[in-house]
Amino acid sequence: MAEKLAIIGSGPAGLTAALYAARAFLDPLVFTGPEFGGQIATTTEVENFPGFPNGLQGPELTTAMREQAERFGSRMRQEIIEKVDFGQRPFKLWSPGGTYEVDSVIVATGATPRKLGIPGEDAFIGRGVSYCATCDGFFFRNKEIMVVGGGDSAFQEGLFLTKFGTRVRIVHRRDTFRAGSTLQERARRNPKIEFITNTVVERVNGNGQVSDVLLRNVKSGETTHTPVTGFFVYVGHDPNTQLFKGQLAMNDEGYLEVDSRLHTNVPGVFAAGEVHDNWFKQAITSAGFGCMAALEAERYLSSQS
Ligand code: NAP
Repeated sequence: MAEKLAIIGSGPAGLTAALYAARAFLDPLVFTGPEFGGQIATTTEVENFPGFPNGLQGPELTTAMREQAERFGSRMRQEIIEKVDFGQRPFKLWSPGGTYEVDSVIVATGATPRKLGIPGEDAFIGRGVSYCATCDGFFFRNKEIMVVGGGDSAFQEGLFLTKFGTRVRIVHRRDTFRAGSTLQERARRNPKIEFITNTVVERVNGNGQVSDVLLRNVKSGETTHTPVTGFFVYVGHDPNTQLFKGQLAMNDEGYLEVDSRLHTNVPGVFAAGEVHDNWFKQAITSAGFGCMAALEAERYLSSQS
């Protein structure tokens, strides 16, 4: 017997879809993927999720969402879906644990932090290069920290990293920032934060551990070696859609194409969250998309029976 609904992904979109689908008696099977909770689970302070006036930690939020979804019968599988066939119904999903047949799918695989793609970056991941301040900030107590990026993430996580580092330098390729004004103001007031603007990082150097980076000023062309121990990259994201190439319609950047009710080009397959949303990218908007996708899946399944 085919499952009624599979949800691929366990960030705010997937977990909210699971909650709504479970309450609609769809018995959703949630494939949580390699990292439970998605990006928000690697975020330090979440201050803008409604209902939590004092803020909370990202992992606290996703754990609470999971418990709420499970309370109504969602089934979580810590498995990675490696292949899908949306060519005929029931749809097929393959994980190392087995093959699943499902009548409908909500894709909520989110997005992954982008790399800079510079020499030394990959070689020093886990040895000074990091994409997760919550996970790794602790290792850089009383050390020099650098954060690359000019958006909310760079500022938010840069501020968090001031708890650990002697100094946090935010390096940005332009001289104006995308980050919201509240975060910018807070960073400017923090004595541990310094800004290096109009500058790109050309190379990460070290010997076993990161020791310094080569910076280049894009206006003057001047290059400098700057000592750093913790090097954090926050330069945006790429959608996790590799799995769906040739199965679902996507745009040039790889984001899934959906209509206003989150239907993909395959009837019965819906998308929710940063896998299709390259614009809002907030935990609360992803949660909203998860809700919408579950309501539409319920409608779709009712129309099929
Ligand atoms: P983002 O807003 O896309 O910012 C990425 C930053 O990285 C930009 O400043 C960009 O520079 C820079 N960048 C991109 N590629 C680069 C490269 N190859 N080399 C150097 N710099 C590069 O990404 P984000 O900060 O991760 O935020 C994503 C979304 O999450 C946003 O919608 C944001 O509002 C949201 N968010 C919100 C909060 C919050 O509300 N507290 C916290 C975190 C994230 P340019 O500016 O020159 O393009």
